[in-house]
Amino acid sequence: MIDYRPSWMDENLDIYRSSVSRFVENEMQPHDERWREQGHIDKEVWRKAGAQGFLCSDIPAEYGGGGADFRYEAVFFEEQWRRGLTGMGQGVHSISAHYILNHGTEQQKRMYLPKMASGEMIGAIAMTEPGTGSDLQAITTKAVKEGEHYVINGSKIFITNGYLCELLILIVKTDTSAGSKGVSLLLMETADLPGFRVGKKLKKMGQKAQDTVELFFEDVRVHQSQLLGGEEGKGFYQLMSDLPYERTTVGIQGVALMEGAIAETLAYVKERHVFGKPLMEMQNTRFKLAEVASLTRAARVFIDSCIEQVVSGELDNATASMSKWWISELQQKIVDECLQLHGGYGYMDEYLICRMYADSRVARIYAGTSEIMLEVVARSL
Ligand SMILES: Cc1cc2nc3c(=O)[nH]c(=O)nc-3n(C[C@H](O)[C@H](O)[C@H](O)COP(=O)(O)OP(=O)(O)OC[C@H]3O[C@@H](n4cnc5c(N)ncnc54)[C@H](O)[C@@H]3O)c2cc1C
Repeated sequence: MIDYRPSWMDENLDIYRSSVSRFVENEMQPHDERWREQGHIDKEVWRKAGAQGFLCSDIPAEYGGGGADFRYEAVFFEEQWRRGLTGMGQGVHSISAHYILNHGTEQQKRMYLPKMASGEMIGAIAMTEPGTGSDLQAITTKAVKEGEHYVINGSKIFITNGYLCELLILIVKTDTSAGSKGVSLLLMETADLPGFRVGKKLKKMGQKAQDTVELFFEDVRVHQSQLLGGEEGKGFYQLMSDLPYERTTVGIQGVALMEGAIAETLAYVKERHVFGKPLMEMQNTRFKLAEVASLTRAARVFIDSCIEQVVSGELDNATASMSKWWISELQQKIVDECLQLHGGYGYMDEYLICRMYADSRVARIYAGTSEIMLEVVARSL
């Protein structure tokens, strides 16, 4: 099942996948239990992934990236998520780098992209606030110009990589009377920044090795040169233009996780005996697995086409939203069926399928909820 070769693979990617998979097995998998307990992965593994060239693989080499394309990013996601390793906020890191690449000034690109590619700076993006998530225009975190600086006050919640991040893309209002045209993005180096505070790591249902936090800003001063692209009021447009990329990363994770869940379940049902024979020999088991394998293949073909369209620059927002909606909804059903075949063991945290189930639920919520995805699709019809 998981040996199915995506349409976009080639010989170079086969070699790349082998080294990624070795890295994931040696440097990530053995630590997952500890990472889940401490609520974040080690900073060290970010640096190691960067040193191996696995971060920002689709950022041009002139900015320190891998100089390759999005398929290489996809491989790193897949090798983690099919093993149920959901701790590294690679998606958030990559999309942050792409905001800088696509909208930053030359100086901002040269200053930050090499450090993000090496893992020296872990990226995060802070949009959501306690009072608003889906309705981004309603944010209240304010940046007021004072001389050459912006003075920032407000708070953000549910920020992935927020505990470890060294470079934050902060979504603020630079003009509270201009609606979406008053939204701007600021690049913020978080180390020793007066007035910036990281709240406690939030206790979540799943993805327990991924650090998710609240962030607080009290009279934080950031130089005006840190405004992404150097122009106020462009934030909404900047965020919207890279949404297809972000939504595709969630789809890739979902498909890889489903494929991993099926592989895990196949191994289990061959071992487990019920009523004197392997569980795999029960017709219900065979049919259930045939169903989830067929549905997952359909998701695979869909996401493969999105990956190819990200590479060619043709993926539109509606198609990306369709894939994010459909795959994240399907993921719940597939993992639930796989868990059912594990019986009571499927409910035990030490079983991978249990973690995959809990880790899957948020896919329908983050990076835009299912309802928002449907709204985007409906508007395109
Ligand atoms: C684990 C995790 C990690 C996250 N990481 C990040 C991060 O790194 N950075 C970041 O900025 N945010 C992050 N988020 C926040 C996430 O993007 C938001 O939770 C999400 O966008 C929904 O916003 P909300 O929670 O405020 O829900 P709300 O917007 O309050 O939505 C509540 C319900 O109302 C529905 N709804 C809202 N508007 C409409 C509408 N127009 N039509 C129909 N239904 C609607 C929603 O679909 C949902 O069902 C993360 C969240 C989680 C749980």
